[in-house]
Amino acid sequence: MKLKEKLEHLMAVYNLCPRASLSQNFLIDARCVSRLIEEIGLEEKDIVLEIGAGTGILTSHLLQKAGRVFAVEIDESLCKVMRDELKGKSNLKILCGDITKLALDSLFLEEDSVKVVGNLPYHIASRIILELVRKKWWELMVFTIQREVADKLLSCPGKKTRGALSVIVSYYTDVKKVMDIPPQAFYPAPRVTSTVVKIEAKKKKLVAEDEKFFLDVVKASFTARRKTLLNCLSRGLSLSREVARDILIKSKVPEKKRAEELEVEDFIRISNVLLRKKGRGKIAHQSD
Ligand code: SAM
Repeated sequence: MKLKEKLEHLMAVYNLCPRASLSQNFLIDARCVSRLIEEIGLEEKDIVLEIGAGTGILTSHLLQKAGRVFAVEIDESLCKVMRDELKGKSNLKILCGDITKLALDSLFLEEDSVKVVGNLPYHIASRIILELVRKKWWELMVFTIQREVADKLLSCPGKKTRGALSVIVSYYTDVKKVMDIPPQAFYPAPRVTSTVVKIEAKKKKLVAEDEKFFLDVVKASFTARRKTLLNCLSRGLSLSREVARDILIKSKVPEKKRAEELEVEDFIRISNVLLRKKGRGKIAHQSD
């Protein structure tokens, strides 16, 4: 049976309608499914975390090759479909819940090498990726996301699409585009083109002295797109202009630059310089 017919059959049997509010656009193109599976490169020892498993179309393929599959799905009616259709699969654990609320760190250990995959729910794709890149227990992530978000992930310094998401994700990982997927490959067809990306943890990364503070600096730098870095930093971090200017001089970053022009290393230097200055208690805030 073709994937579209199979999906229609399941929808009819279980009396389901795709829920737009949960980004339920189901993959119905078998070639895309095969390509995704190929790109993940599964082995018997692999632990896989699938996000947004839906009716289990991708899950059934993952189960054939991986040692263990954790399939997360928020919609209880779809979890029931999976429980019935994938009954007896001893290497499957269905987690019926919200991926943004699951305690993943208690499920996996730091020394694990989990492969994370999924046709992500588009309305929370950036949030899921931002959360996951900081975890230590994954080795590879292969996601289908909307092309607009993929463009941000793949964006180099100087590009209009570069934002806090691009900088933060490239601090932790290397992202590669695998392929675009047209709307017709899904049912119902989404309004946008989708892109498959492959995300790998950086083998060797330059490390900020305080990662949390580095993230605050990156976010503050992108608070107002049209403003210079000097303005964004001083407003976003409540620093006086003099302090913000001094930090930029010491970080060797021209104050007139805009955040999207900077390399990850520039943000690391800025956050390290600022952190040391904070540590010495010499920060003058806007209100001082
Ligand atoms: N994997 C299926 C496929 O490829 O056909 C479905 C992909 S569909 C784009 C996204 C899935 O994510 C839907 O099944 C939806 O119910 C689920 N979902 C939406 N929000 C979620 C959340 N917060 N946590 C877990 N799953 C979620």
